[in-house]
Amino acid sequence: MQDEFDVVVVGAGAAGLAAAARLSRAALSVVVLEGQGRIGGRAHTLAARMDLPLDLGCGWLHSADRNPLATLFARAGVALDRTPPAWGRGAAHLNLTPEDQVAFAAVLRDFEAALEEAARTGQEGRALTLLTPGASRWAALLEANSACYHGAGLSQISIQDHAARQDTGVAWRAPDGYGAAICGLAPRSLIVPHCAVLSIDHEGPRLRLETARGKITAKAAVLTLSSALIAQEAIRIHPRLPAKVDAATGLPLGQAEKVFLRPSAPELFPRESHLWGCQDRAATGSYYMRPMGRPVIECYFGGDHARALAEAGPGAATAYAIDELADHYGADVRSQLQPVAETRWGADPWAMGAYSHALPGCAPARRALAEPVDGRLFFAGEATSSHSYGTAHGAWESGLRAADEALAALGLREP
Ligand SMILES: Cc1cc2nc3c(=O)[nH]c(=O)nc-3n(C[C@H](O)[C@H](O)[C@H](O)COP(=O)(O)OP(=O)(O)OC[C@H]3O[C@@H](n4cnc5c(N)ncnc54)[C@H](O)[C@@H]3O)c2cc1C
Repeated sequence: MQDEFDVVVVGAGAAGLAAAARLSRAALSVVVLEGQGRIGGRAHTLAARMDLPLDLGCGWLHSADRNPLATLFARAGVALDRTPPAWGRGAAHLNLTPEDQVAFAAVLRDFEAALEEAARTGQEGRALTLLTPGASRWAALLEANSACYHGAGLSQISIQDHAARQDTGVAWRAPDGYGAAICGLAPRSLIVPHCAVLSIDHEGPRLRLETARGKITAKAAVLTLSSALIAQEAIRIHPRLPAKVDAATGLPLGQAEKVFLRPSAPELFPRESHLWGCQDRAATGSYYMRPMGRPVIECYFGGDHARALAEAGPGAATAYAIDELADHYGADVRSQLQPVAETRWGADPWAMGAYSHALPGCAPARRALAEPVDGRLFFAGEATSSHSYGTAHGAWESGLRAADEALAALGLREP
C-alpha cells in the first residue's frame, strides 16, 4: 500500500462503498480501508450455509420505488423479487384472527398518525407517551414491533426521529442476497481489507492515519463507522471531537438479531406469511415463513429481548425461536426445525449493534454527526441520514453525500 492519498475512506460498508464509487470517478488517489477481511459491513449475505443466500443484516430494499440501490441493481442485472412483504398484506399474520388483524392495523395506523402530528407541532419526547389508553390491548405487540423496527422499545425512541423516517411502504428483495448485491457494486481495486484505522491526527497540514498496516497521510477522510463505534472513540482522533462523540451517543445502535431455521416439512408453513410468537408480551419473536417460497423461517428479535437472548449465549435465540414455534405448531415441530444460522450483531466489534435510533431529544444529532470538520473529515453511515437512517440505501446515500462534500472541499465540485 502506498502511504499518501488524496482521500481515505474508512470502512467498506454500504456508505463506504458508495463514497468510494463516487470518488473513484474523480482524478484522485483514493483508498478504502476496511478493518475486516470481508466487505459490506452490516450488508452481509451468507452464501455457504444451505445453498440459499441468507441475509444476516439488511434483507429488504425499503422504499424500493425510490431506492437508489434498486436502480443500480437493475442496471447491473441483479435480480429483484417484488412480492409485497407479508406485513403489508392483510391476513398474513398467522396467529391473529382477521378481526384482530384489522384492530391491530388500526391501532398501529393511529399511533403512527399521533407520532406524525406530534412531530409536526414540534413535540419531542419518548414515542411511548403517545400511546393512547385505547391501545393498551396491543401495547405488547406495539413494543415488539418497535423493537424489530428500531432495535429499541418505545420509551427509547424520539418522536421527532421516528416521524422523520421516510418509507414509501414498497419493499423488494434481492433473491441472491441484498448484502451480496451491494458488495457487487464495490470498486474492489480500491479496497484494502484487514486494515483497521487506529487513529487520525488532524492537527497538521495533512491528515496522518495510523492503520493496522502502517502509517499513511491524506488530504481528506470519509469516516463511515457505526455511531456506536464513534461514541466509543474506537478510532482515536486527535484533537478529539467531543461534539461528534456527543452526537453519536444520542444515536445508539439498537439490537436486532436473526435466526434462520430450516423446516424438514416446509409445507406446514405457508409461504410469505408472518407470525408473532406471542401477542401478549413484548419479549417475543417475529417469524417470517418461507420468504420467496424457500424452505426457511427467518426469526427476528429486537430491542431488550434480543439483548437478553444474546447475553444468554450462543444458541439462546435459536432455542427461544423453536420454543415459540412449538407453542404455535405443537411440540412435534421441534424435531423438524434445523438451526442454520444465528447472528450476533450486538457483539460484533465492527458494528456493536444493528441500526441507529435517536434517543428522545436527540433527533438533531443526525445532522450534527453528518457535519464535516475542518473541511477535511467527512462523516457518512446510516446514522447520519435524517430520513433513511437504519437502512442500507440511507447508508449508500450518505456515502454519496460525504463524497460530494469531500470533492467540493478539494475544489473538484461545486459545494
Ligand atoms: C439484523 C439487521 C437487519 C437489517 N435489515 C435491514 C433491511 O431489511 N433493510 C435495510 O435497508 N437495512 C437493514 N439493516 C440496516 C443496514 O444493514 C445498515 O443500515 C447498513 O448496512 C449500514 O451501512 P453503513 O455503511 O452505514 O455501516 P456498516 O455496514 O457498519 O459499515 C461500516 C464499515 O466500517 C468498518 N469499520 C469499522 N471500524 C473500522 C475501523 N476502525 N477501520 C476500518 N474499518 C472499520 C466495518 O467493518 C464496516 O465494514 C439491517 C441491519 C441489521 C443488523
